[in-house]
Amino acid sequence: MPRPIPLLRVDGPVMVLGGPYGNLEATRAALAEAARLKISSDRIVCTGDVVAYGADAAATVALVRGAVGHVVMGNCEASIAAAAPDCGCGFPAGSSCERLSAAWFAYAARELDEDARCWMAALPPRIDLEIAGVRLAVIHGGVDVINRFVFASTAAATKRAEIERSGCDGVIGGHCGLPFTQAIDGRLWHNAGAVGLPANDGTTRVWCSILTAEAGGIAIEHRALEYDWAAAAAGMRRAGLPQEYAAALATGLWPSCDVLPLKEIRERGVPLVPERVFWLPPARDAVRKRRRACTRDELWPRGERAAQLRLAPHKFRDPQLTATGVPRAHVTMERLTTLWFNTGTLCNIACRNCYIESSPRNDRLVYLTRGEVAAFLDEIESAGTGTQEIGFTGGEPFMNPDFIAMLHDSLARGFRVLVLTNAMRPMQRAKARLLDIRNKFGNRLTMRVSLDHFTPERHEDERGPGTFRPTLDGLIWLARNSFRLAVAGRTMWGDDESAERAGYARLFAEHAIAVDAASPRELVLFPEIDPGADVPEITDACWGLLGKSPADVMCASSRMIVKRKGSDRPVVVACTLLPYDPRFELGVSLRAATRTVALNHPNCAKFCVLGGASCSAR
Ligand code: SF4
Ligand code: SF4
Repeated sequence: MPRPIPLLRVDGPVMVLGGPYGNLEATRAALAEAARLKISSDRIVCTGDVVAYGADAAATVALVRGAVGHVVMGNCEASIAAAAPDCGCGFPAGSSCERLSAAWFAYAARELDEDARCWMAALPPRIDLEIAGVRLAVIHGGVDVINRFVFASTAAATKRAEIERSGCDGVIGGHCGLPFTQAIDGRLWHNAGAVGLPANDGTTRVWCSILTAEAGGIAIEHRALEYDWAAAAAGMRRAGLPQEYAAALATGLWPSCDVLPLKEIRERGVPLVPERVFWLPPARDAVRKRRRACTRDELWPRGERAAQLRLAPHKFRDPQLTATGVPRAHVTMERLTTLWFNTGTLCNIACRNCYIESSPRNDRLVYLTRGEVAAFLDEIESAGTGTQEIGFTGGEPFMNPDFIAMLHDSLARGFRVLVLTNAMRPMQRAKARLLDIRNKFGNRLTMRVSLDHFTPERHEDERGPGTFRPTLDGLIWLARNSFRLAVAGRTMWGDDESAERAGYARLFAEHAIAVDAASPRELVLFPEIDPGADVPEITDACWGLLGKSPADVMCASSRMIVKRKGSDRPVVVACTLLPYDPRFELGVSLRAATRTVALNHPNCAKFCVLGGASCSAR
C-alpha cells in the first residue's frame, strides 16, 4: 500500500529548506531567519538530507524535529533508517564524492540513536503543498527515484516528465544542493539549495527560499544566509570528518564536481545574487497546448552565470603598481633554460578554451620558417645562454610545412626537445619521418599530447565532436613506437586531482600507454584560463604569503619566439601564455630579451602564480 501523501495548505509565507546536512550552525541561522520573518514551524518545509557532511548529525536532527513542521525523506534518511552501507546519493563508483561521503556516512550513522532512526524511517517521501490555489509536490530528488539529481541544466523534458508524474502544478525538489527556479512549460520547478553546504559559488553563504502567495501566483525569494561557518568547519575537523568538506565551508567551493553537469561546473565560483522572482501558474489548457515544444524559462538564476564575472577594469594597468598602489611583483630571468617556438597559430581544430585562440583560420601568428628557427638556435650558441631545452607549440606544430626540419635541426644540435601536439591527423601524416627522428635521437624528444580529459565526453566538450578517438589513436601509436611521452590534461571540470589522475591511469593502463598518471611531469594538469574572470593582482608580498618564489614561474627560465602576421621578422615574448600582448614583447634577439618582466596580466596571477602552471617538460 503506498503511503498517503500528506497535504500542507498555507496562506502565509512558507520557508523551504534544503539539505541541513548536519550543519548545526547553518540550520540555526535558517531557523533564526524564519523567526525574524515570523514564519512559524508549521510553515517550514524541508526537502530532506537533514544529516550529511556536517559534524552535528544528532543535534541537527533534534533541532529540525523540534522546529521544522514538515520534512520529506532524503536519501540520507532512507539509508540511515535502513542501516544501508552508504548514503545512497547515487555518486559514480570510484568518484571523489563516493570516497568522501563514506566517511561522513559512517560518522552520522554512529552518532544517531534508535529514536532518530525511527523518526527518519517514518518521514514521508513526498508532501504536497497547496499555496496560491496550486498544488506543488515537495520531494527530495525525483518523484519516484529519491536520489535522482535534477539540476538547473537538466533537460526541460526530464523535468516536465517528473512534474507530470507528480500530477501537480509543479515540483519543489532538493538533493542537488544548488538553488534555482524555472518554469517548465509554465509549470514550476523550484530548488531552495542547501542549508548545510555553500552553493559552490565561491562564497560561504548558504541558501533557503521563501514562497509567498501573491497576485494569483507565487513570489519566490532565494535568500542567502550568513552563519558561523568557521565554527561549523572547526567542528568537522574535530570530528575527524573529511577536511575537504570543512574547507568547502570556508571557500564556498565543493571539493569535487563528480556529479555536476558541465554548465554547473563552469559556474563554479561565480557568486549567486539573491533575488525575488514571480511565478504565475499557467492556465491548464495552455499547458496542454505547449506539450509538444517543451520550454524552460530560467526565472533564477538567469542565463549563463559563467559569463557574468568580468575583470575589474582598473586592474593590470600600471607595470609598477597594482590598482591599490602596491608594488607589483616582477620576475627576473635567471637563465634561459627553455626556448619555445610558436610554429604558428593555425590548428586543425578549434578548441573552445584554446588560450591562444588557434583554429583552422587564425593566422595571427604566422608559420616560422626553418631559417628563422635556426637563427635563434645559432644565437643560443653564440650568446652562451646555457639553454638545454627547445619547445615547439602552436596551433598544431605539425601543420607547419617546415616543422619536421626544425625538429630535426634542434635535436641534431644536442637539445632536448618537447613538442606539444594534439596527435591528430597532421601528426599522423608524419609518422614515417617521426620514426626516423626517434631512431636517430631517441629519448631526447618528448611528445606531449593534449588529451583534455580521460573521458570522450569531457575532452570533446572542449575540443569538439569526434576529437577524442583520433587523439587517443595518435597517443597509442606514439606509445607503441616507444616515443618518450607526456600528456596534458585540464582541470576545468572541478574534479579533484587524485580522481582525475586515477581516471587517466585507467585509460593509460587499458591502452598500454607508458605515461605515469601520478607524475606531475608526465601528466600535466592545467587549470582553466578564463579571460574574463576577476583575479587578484600579484604584489611583491604575495611570494611570501603564497610560499612561492619568482624563480618558479615560466618567465624566470623561458622565452618564446613568435612571428606576427604582417611582420618581417620574429620577436621574443616573455612566455608561452602571452603571445599577443605587446607589453610582453621583449625585442628581436635573445640577448635583449633577458629583462625583468612585470606580472601585469591576469594570466600571471591566475595561471602562473595562483594556478602553478609551467610548460616545461621538466
Ligand atoms: S589543439 Fe591546441 S592549439 Fe589547437 S585549438 Fe586546441 S588547444 Fe588550441
Ligand atoms: S603569464 Fe606567467 S610566465 Fe608569462 S609573464 Fe606572466 S607570470 Fe610570467
